[in-house]
Amino acid sequence: MSKNSSIYICQNCGWSSLRWVGQCQGCNNWNTLVEELTEKSKTGKTISSDEKINDFTIPLSQVEAFKSVKPRLSTFIDEFDRVLGGEKFNRGMVDGAVMLIGGEPGIGKSTLLTQVVVSMLAKTSKGKRGNELGKNGKIAYVCGEENPAQVALRINRLKETDYDQDNLIFITSTNVDSVIKAVKKIEPKVVVIDSIQTMTTFDLAGSAGSVGQVRECTERLTGIAKALDVPIFLVGHVTKEGTISGPKVLEHIVDSVLELSGDRTGDLRILRAIKNRFGATDEVGVFRMRDFGFESVSNPSELFLEYADVGVPGSATVCVMEGTRPLLIEIQSLVVSSHLAMPRRVGRGIKLSRIQVLAAVLQKHCNLPLGSHDIFTSVAGGFNVSEPALDLGLAVAIASSLVNMPIKEKAVFIGEVGLLGEIRSVNLLDRRIKEAKRLGFQRIISKKTHSSVKNVLKEFGLLKKF
Ligand SMILES: [Zn+2]
Repeated sequence: MSKNSSIYICQNCGWSSLRWVGQCQGCNNWNTLVEELTEKSKTGKTISSDEKINDFTIPLSQVEAFKSVKPRLSTFIDEFDRVLGGEKFNRGMVDGAVMLIGGEPGIGKSTLLTQVVVSMLAKTSKGKRGNELGKNGKIAYVCGEENPAQVALRINRLKETDYDQDNLIFITSTNVDSVIKAVKKIEPKVVVIDSIQTMTTFDLAGSAGSVGQVRECTERLTGIAKALDVPIFLVGHVTKEGTISGPKVLEHIVDSVLELSGDRTGDLRILRAIKNRFGATDEVGVFRMRDFGFESVSNPSELFLEYADVGVPGSATVCVMEGTRPLLIEIQSLVVSSHLAMPRRVGRGIKLSRIQVLAAVLQKHCNLPLGSHDIFTSVAGGFNVSEPALDLGLAVAIASSLVNMPIKEKAVFIGEVGLLGEIRSVNLLDRRIKEAKRLGFQRIISKKTHSSVKNVLKEFGLLKKF
């Protein structure tokens, strides 16, 4: 294709230029120009006269997905399938789905995906595992970041040893058009692109990782996914600052965006669906990073409570819903007297506005002098909790730290706290209570047992005169 096949278009105002310029002449913004293909070169065919209307219309009764539920392709990693979506006994990926796995560099995206690949290729001898790909189901792994030797070394570290080695095909090209050609030839059942930032097409002049290249390559790969009905995973790096090098611009092109996060120094990893055309977006998968790779944590509550510091002031256990699963986690709080005119409120994994509201409620209705104290809070395990069900536990943790008294009993606090200090009910309360009981909690504090936050603090000896 000729060099003139691409054009630079301002993402802000639509002004276009044949050459890249730093500042848009239309709106004067900097670095808003992105390379795109010109309309002419997009092989835009006009509708030919012999095209029949039946070629592109279909009655509802004839839609395959309406006639029967198509089985999803399982990865045989429960925590991963859970995030991909589906109903019980039919979880996993959908044919032709394009799934972006985002996360900071070094968080373990490649490790997780190689593990998924090997798990899918595991042989049928292991009971019900394997065979979903069919006898000769191949998986294509595009190595843009590493060479096949490096990926092979990683696979060697995994626990799985009995899998179809011949059906894992590495593609070493980073030219997206060559990759597509190879995929058409190999006809794999799953494709992994590691990473989308290394892919380029010669039709654009920009370098790998530029917004224009990343977007165009993703569009081409999406095209082939839909045409061949093959699911494709795209690895996408997200830097701390967020938008750089692309994944943000891809969110609307792909079907699902899964984010792998966690404390890089710790061993917990959480896979969360941010967007999912084929499933719920509030499901999370929890993994533990071991030397051999990822280990599914099917009972995260137990894991998080292992870390809970029972009997320490400032710690309280809450029960939140992550998707369909109740999770017991620890809330930590540190309250110290402040020398600042505006005392500090810091929250890790908790919305700042919730801390401010609860501090005000505790001050007004329980006479706790929080106006002169700094409050630091965090959710154990690197979770982000935006659920109001966390309120009561958070309030208790703050009060516990302020008066320097631990919660003496093994108790769980579930409830939203209103502006009048009243405890409000939360959805799925019974399921949360059931989970707490399953884990051996006898004392479960909720709207069922107490009407206000003040009553709770009184009962646990956290109301002091100041
Ligand atoms: Zn502009």
